[in-house]
Amino acid sequence: MSGTVHIIGAGLAGLSAAVRLTSLGKPVVIHEATAFAGGRCRSYHDASVGMTIDNGNHLLLSGNHAALDYLRDIGAADRLIGPRQPEFSFVDLLSGERWTLRFNDGPVPFWIFDPRRRVPGTSPFDYLPLARLLWAPAGKTVGEVITCKGALYERLVEPLIVAALNIDAPLGAARLAGAIVRETLAVGGRACRPLIAREGLGPTLIEPALALLRQRGTTVRFEHQLRAVQFSAERAEALEFGGETVALNADDAVVLAVPPYAAASLIHGLEAPTEFRAIVNGHFRIEPPAELPPILGVLNATVQWIFSFPGRVSVTISAGDRLIDTPREELARRIWDEVARVTGLSRTLPPWQIVRERRATFAATPAQDAKRPGTVTQWRNLALAGDWTDTGLPATIEGAIRSGNRAADFIAKPS
Ligand SMILES: Cc1cc2nc3c(=O)[nH]c(=O)nc-3n(C[C@H](O)[C@H](O)[C@H](O)COP(=O)(O)OP(=O)(O)OC[C@H]3O[C@@H](n4cnc5c(N)ncnc54)[C@H](O)[C@@H]3O)c2cc1C
Repeated sequence: MSGTVHIIGAGLAGLSAAVRLTSLGKPVVIHEATAFAGGRCRSYHDASVGMTIDNGNHLLLSGNHAALDYLRDIGAADRLIGPRQPEFSFVDLLSGERWTLRFNDGPVPFWIFDPRRRVPGTSPFDYLPLARLLWAPAGKTVGEVITCKGALYERLVEPLIVAALNIDAPLGAARLAGAIVRETLAVGGRACRPLIAREGLGPTLIEPALALLRQRGTTVRFEHQLRAVQFSAERAEALEFGGETVALNADDAVVLAVPPYAAASLIHGLEAPTEFRAIVNGHFRIEPPAELPPILGVLNATVQWIFSFPGRVSVTISAGDRLIDTPREELARRIWDEVARVTGLSRTLPPWQIVRERRATFAATPAQDAKRPGTVTQWRNLALAGDWTDTGLPATIEGAIRSGNRAADFIAKPS
């Protein structure tokens, strides 16, 4: 009989590792420090708005193949929604201009030759320098590889990089920005359809996985925080959960799928990212106007993206560290004022909630990117997973799921 795999952390990295390992018939136990699964990607009932909301709006793209495969595996592929066509609507709050980018399918970007589909104020030649990002070496910032000004930068490149890397764009690691361009714009429209979990992150990405895992006999132990790992030279020998020590048999294994600061406290000397960036979300209980697209980019504003859900309008501000200390009500009013200007909704502040995730993602600078460890450790029965491991992608759902898959493949491979 094959040994048990102990997965530490029930975020998307841990859950995806569990889904893959159980599909191969491996017995799995998940240990989660908190009382809920999902980690940074979760739904909860919020008393201020009186409804279930997500900790933050999460956007997927149709090119996120690992995430879409995971959703298919857990039987939730139909729970993501988005426009039928690969298109993104924008509004510039300063000039009042509105436009919609309409990508075409296939790798030849016909859309950049069509003024009705490309970014207003750009010409096809403006797009050529983007190719430099595709081959950007590690160690370079976006600002060192491309010119961070002009209409294309301000209206497409900057919003894309801020959203995907969660950092002020010129400071972001060019290698990570290049990965995003390579997996989206360079593939064409079929990889660029925006997708959102309309019923919420929990019912879409988390609960179906838990249901499937329980069906497969997986135990999920909540409020079961790993406090220490006992190691020998070659392997992890035991897991200490404060009051309970689980000895690992010869064929047992561990997937450590916790955030980098938690992993570093469990593995002495582990090199891992140490700097983080915040994401701020505002949630407002109000019916969005019928014509509001599911997701709308906003330029020259505090607000970056407006998401429209049934009975709720939500706003995302990435790289939001400058707003961490702004008083909550002031921030809610500032955000709502902009939403009202964009949507035509009343300026009266509806019931609201502001969620600030200080350590939403590691800081996607070249220096922090260089600190990301791989899946494999010096111990043959312990693998690392998490959006902060070296996936080659920024900290995203897609990266977290790929990391979980990789850890599962490593553990499952015959030694
Ligand atoms: C507000 C916000 C908006 C975002 N928007 C997007 C987006 O639009 N698109 C996108 O792709 N990504 C987005 N992300 C990023 C995405 O949420 C993360 O990349 C992903 O959820 C990370 O998953 P993970 O499993 O690696 O880590 P986590 O979700 O952090 O999971 C780690 C788990 O380990 C648990 N844990 C920690 N220590 C221990 C311990 N000692 N013992 C047991 N358990 C432990 C934690 O409680 C947690 O449940 C966003 C993130 C935030 C916060």
